[in-house]
Amino acid sequence: MTCGRCGCSITAEIQKNRYIYYHCTGSKGKCEKAYIREELLEDKLGQVVKKIVIDDAKLEWIKEALKASHVDEKAYHDEMIGKLTLRHKKLQQKLDQAYEDKLEGKITEEFWNRKSEQWIEEQSRILSEIQCHQNANKSYFDEGIKILELASKAYFLYQKQEAPEKRKLLNFLLSNCQVIDGTLYPTYRKPFDLLAEGNKTEKWGG
Ligand SMILES: [Zn+2]
Repeated sequence: MTCGRCGCSITAEIQKNRYIYYHCTGSKGKCEKAYIREELLEDKLGQVVKKIVIDDAKLEWIKEALKASHVDEKAYHDEMIGKLTLRHKKLQQKLDQAYEDKLEGKITEEFWNRKSEQWIEEQSRILSEIQCHQNANKSYFDEGIKILELASKAYFLYQKQEAPEKRKLLNFLLSNCQVIDGTLYPTYRKPFDLLAEGNKTEKWGG
């Protein structure tokens, strides 16, 4: 959290040995020191979490949309995998042929060494590209679902967890949170910004 007025960090201070207050450090010079009690801040951060929560109906609806777009996504990666596999096979045929030619003395040892090294290198590049497309196929949908499910129960999790877990969750959802006069202005990380925006405007089409 940072102070929206001067950009300094927000820090905690204990008073009367029992109340914890949060305020701007004011380290860039004097800043209006609005103090927020810890309990109130915790509650306000809870409201920030609540803004990305989607209900079950929306969760199902977005899952379906994700599944549909995953079909296109998968078709693209499958096509690339097909092309790369073919290229890999052709290189193998070249290697086999050149090896025969070398044995029969049709090409020189030097030519064989140079070409075979080049082709084997290309083959290993192709294999790692294929791996990337395979991973993309798997993660696109799975990660999307995981994120949506987290979003649907984020507020519930926030409420029942201890402070360190709350902090982790907030860190996962937000890149920053500014405080001005006790009001929070969160910056959501992607894709949670889209969920917050969708909840605010009720426009989910895009
Ligand atoms: Zn400040």
